[in-house]
Amino acid sequence: MHRAGSVVALAAVCGWMAHPAAAGAAERPADALVLRVAWVDPTSCACGLESIALSEVARLLREMGVRVRWRRDRGLARAVSDEVRVVVLDRVRSESAGLVLGASQTPGPPGSVAWVHLPSVRQALGMHAAWSPWRLDHGERRTLGIALGRVAAHEIVHAVAPDVPHGEGLMAERLSLDLLTSPAVQLDRQVALAVRRGLEPPLPSLEAGKVAVLARGPE
Ligand SMILES: [Zn+2]
Repeated sequence: MHRAGSVVALAAVCGWMAHPAAAGAAERPADALVLRVAWVDPTSCACGLESIALSEVARLLREMGVRVRWRRDRGLARAVSDEVRVVVLDRVRSESAGLVLGASQTPGPPGSVAWVHLPSVRQALGMHAAWSPWRLDHGERRTLGIALGRVAAHEIVHAVAPDVPHGEGLMAERLSLDLLTSPAVQLDRQVALAVRRGLEPPLPSLEAGKVAVLARGPE
């Protein structure tokens, strides 16, 4: 259960079997909702991975009927309330015994944030935690970028739709090696609908006076 303002974390486990991929369960209307994403990489640790990761985020969100518009940001100072900031951290989660890949903060005064622990994602893939993206070959860089995007997308769902519980596929509580690397990852229709609801603009509220007039009915 995730409450507003709380921070939730995503762990990884290797060897856990994923269910067969069945992406694309959600409707894809022409007027797709827009999710604004700010990509924040304060230490440039994900240099060379950004376009691969963001393509995967955009692909997964597109399956939910959501279009991603993203921008780069250097830090966390410039908060924009209607966007999710994806912050790539070049460190593991220190207080956790297990391998924590990411975490999120649901909407609050500083906005929504999705954190991804890049060394932990590398470790979940069987790569050395300290490897620089520049020491990877093309295939390894692509694998790492896609995994980074999937962890970011998982945390973005938490940030946009905090009531969505963990389930299967992308929203599994523990992202297995298979879920991080398989060609497709399962997306639950209910998750897609919840994300869409989370991005829909709120209905305009009526002023008290107008409510009273409407309650009286036409003269
Ligand atoms: Zn989670």
